[in-house]
Amino acid sequence: MTLPGSPQVAYRGDRLMLEGCAVTDLAASFGTPLYAYSRSAMLSALSAYQQALEGRDHLICYAVKANSSLAVLQTFAQAGCGFDIVSAGELSRVLAAGAQPSKVVFSGVGKTRAEMRQALDAGVMCFNVESEAELETLSSVATQAGLMARISLRVNPDVDAKTHPYISTGLKGNKFGIAHERAVAVYAHAAALPGIEVVGIDCHIGSQITEISPYLDAVDRVLDLVEAIEATGLRLHHLDLGGGLGITYTDEKPPSAGDLIGALLQRIEARGHGHRKLMFEPGRSLVGNAGVLVAEVLYLKPSDDHDGKNFCIVDAAMNDLMRPAMYEAWMRIVPCRLRDEAPVTYDVVGPVCESGDWLGRDRALAVHAGDHLAVLSAGAYGMSMASNYNTRGRAAEVMVSGAESWLIRERETPAELFRGEHLLPAR
Ligand SMILES: *Cc1c(COP(=O)(O)O)cnc(C)c1O
Repeated sequence: MTLPGSPQVAYRGDRLMLEGCAVTDLAASFGTPLYAYSRSAMLSALSAYQQALEGRDHLICYAVKANSSLAVLQTFAQAGCGFDIVSAGELSRVLAAGAQPSKVVFSGVGKTRAEMRQALDAGVMCFNVESEAELETLSSVATQAGLMARISLRVNPDVDAKTHPYISTGLKGNKFGIAHERAVAVYAHAAALPGIEVVGIDCHIGSQITEISPYLDAVDRVLDLVEAIEATGLRLHHLDLGGGLGITYTDEKPPSAGDLIGALLQRIEARGHGHRKLMFEPGRSLVGNAGVLVAEVLYLKPSDDHDGKNFCIVDAAMNDLMRPAMYEAWMRIVPCRLRDEAPVTYDVVGPVCESGDWLGRDRALAVHAGDHLAVLSAGAYGMSMASNYNTRGRAAEVMVSGAESWLIRERETPAELFRGEHLLPAR
């Protein structure tokens, strides 16, 4: 059986392997629920971007929110990658993982003054500013600190990324970015503000995008703006085209990073902008297919009547992996050890007390209680969106390289979950 996604996740005989490690062995060593990642899958995803941009001034800024575990960030930092952060918490993480602040960009619609100050003190490369009000605040914070804030405006190119509405961000009516029509005026204003240095322009049109055309539409709209802005005498050093490239969960056929960048470069060069520093902010496409969520089958619950549902109850739940419950996302679920038995159709569900707590519906699986299942393509927006709902400790995480594996995050204990809580005084 061949699996979609990354070649580092494959069967060898009846065993699901992550690189040179049998996933059942990882489950036995580290327990479940368990997130397991292939280091080489992450690095080869990154190198596809790096190769496509080789020989040009560029910076790839991994979008930290896709998977913010320190060892993941460290892996990318050591490979020369920069980072796209959306909070001071993420700033602390990337610095702890060894990132150079000069390769960090700060995005997000709701940066607080304290977060701005922290990022200024750290010396981040650029703030991607998302509103006129934010620009004023940043100017005031930078002036007070006696520092300069380098900025791009995140412009909203008003293109349809043709993805799920919750992860489409480049349309009018999204909360993100500055409207296309306002951009020239806001740039002029930015250039006049104290504490602000205009360095670039930024857009990010959505996530899990599986076509090239929305990107080409966006780059055209952004280049129109670049030309209009530079006609006013301002200089834009870099062009940041955001992230959003999709991955294969089931039968999606997204372009490769190389094909996407090739098409964008062709357009950018055709319009005479080939000299500019290019930046990208990929998240999902660097880590998504590199990770699996491993769960143990706790109980099989056959339906009472012949046309009802059979349930496969596992020890991972919506708190570990939100995507199915939140976006009705379809994620492939496979046994970690193949059985030579007829499959039965199950809804794979977790222990959380919500009917929305499912990982997959109507899945044909040959499994017994005690077997392990792997949810594939779970490296992005998995652990980073995990919660403690139902007072469930978050899963452990392990990084695999060849036949080696390292625990990169311990499973949370109950005591850790209520650390910092206080009982009321006795009376
Ligand atoms: C989430 C996000 C990204 C990454 O998106 P992916 O779909 O994971 O590649 C990049 N830039 C910004 C501003 C984001 O909010």
